[in-house]
Amino acid sequence: MNTNQSLFDRACRVIPGGVNSPVRAFRSVGGIPYFVARGEGAHVWDVEGRRYLDYVQSYGASILGHAHPKVIEAIRAAALDGTTFGAPTLGEVLLAETITEAVPGLDMVRLTSSGTEAGMSTIRLARGATGRSRIVKFAGCYHGHSDSLLAAAGSSVADRAKADSAGVTPGAVGDTTVVPYNEVPELDDDVALVIVEPVAANMGLIGPRPGFLEGLRQACDRVGALLAFDEVITGFRLARGGAAQVYGVQPDLWCFGKVIGGGLPVGAFGGAEAVMSHLAPLGPVYQAGTLSGNPLATAAGLAALGELDDAAFTMLEGRAIELAAGLATVISEAGLPIHVPRVGPLLGLHFGQTPAGNFEQAREAAENGLYRRFFRAMLDRGIALAPGPYEVLFPSLAHGRDDIERTIDLASAAAAEVAKGPV
Ligand SMILES: *Cc1c(COP(=O)(O)O)cnc(C)c1O
Repeated sequence: MNTNQSLFDRACRVIPGGVNSPVRAFRSVGGIPYFVARGEGAHVWDVEGRRYLDYVQSYGASILGHAHPKVIEAIRAAALDGTTFGAPTLGEVLLAETITEAVPGLDMVRLTSSGTEAGMSTIRLARGATGRSRIVKFAGCYHGHSDSLLAAAGSSVADRAKADSAGVTPGAVGDTTVVPYNEVPELDDDVALVIVEPVAANMGLIGPRPGFLEGLRQACDRVGALLAFDEVITGFRLARGGAAQVYGVQPDLWCFGKVIGGGLPVGAFGGAEAVMSHLAPLGPVYQAGTLSGNPLATAAGLAALGELDDAAFTMLEGRAIELAAGLATVISEAGLPIHVPRVGPLLGLHFGQTPAGNFEQAREAAENGLYRRFFRAMLDRGIALAPGPYEVLFPSLAHGRDDIERTIDLASAAAAEVAKGPV
């Protein structure tokens, strides 16, 4: 029989580190990853038959929970008609219409196969449209792994000794300026683009301070720079119109991913028609993809977005409110320093006394070892958190009240165990 260990051993022989995305290797929490055999709703089962209540949910891609019947049926129906053509399909039009109708100010989108592609294409488009070179990003914000954005990125990149990556040349990040989150930077008129996670969810969870997003909008307008909201996590999760709708600030460009693919590989970037018209074939900015707008992916995305009405967002936020309050209570009762930031349906676990407003502050608590020990104590109890201190929790629409209550009960025991151990 396959075990987690036997599969990980095999994986490590043929896949670097045994994984296809570094955070999955459990390096920052210790031990080896569980190999998922299947998922249903709020739960996944590993290859040894062990069940976990899953707060990873593919880092937010599975907002309905795993194997939602409508998503599965949409994928099945699409597959029967063929899986990829290299010619346009109805599904692409429908998904683009659905996204643009949901988001005020967003006229057009181009579909990609990942959030990374959406981010890197956004940059090329902004440079092409403005004729300028400089990009401004915020420390701890993650926009995928394209070269020019791998400077002080959060997520599992934050666990590296250097905040950037080997193999990224000084030239590739030479036009990237990294500034602290939640502070409006002074911009020069060589700035093509300011890109930001409107709610930062790759350095734990850090919401924008009042006035921050408005300040970015004004700063960009002052110098003629474009503003991009990377809504790969927040899009169709905070609300149908994403963070731009919730905070009432309109960027020039948007990046999407995760939720909009219904669990299949999809990303999108977009903006007003005037900006998007710089893209090939209308304009000189090249961008392409063999599998972009793939029929299975658009079918899954459409099925997922079709389930996301106001009631769904209200329910999701209600679960998150209950979970955040419960976790904060039981973890602090155990005597551990804890702050559980929450924005809409997203929450983070910050094992520090004071809330973090930027990457530096997030880092202190992330690196004190408490997340790692709490993660292990929860995993032992069948609750799967993300295997890294900079990730957030993604309750899905399949997480019922009983699941939330069970999580809080088990968190109480897990926190007590952590508090007893060496600090
Ligand atoms: C996950 C993520 C990305 C990258 O998306 P991939 O599909 O992993 O390439 C970009 N931006 C943000 C905010 C993300 O969370």
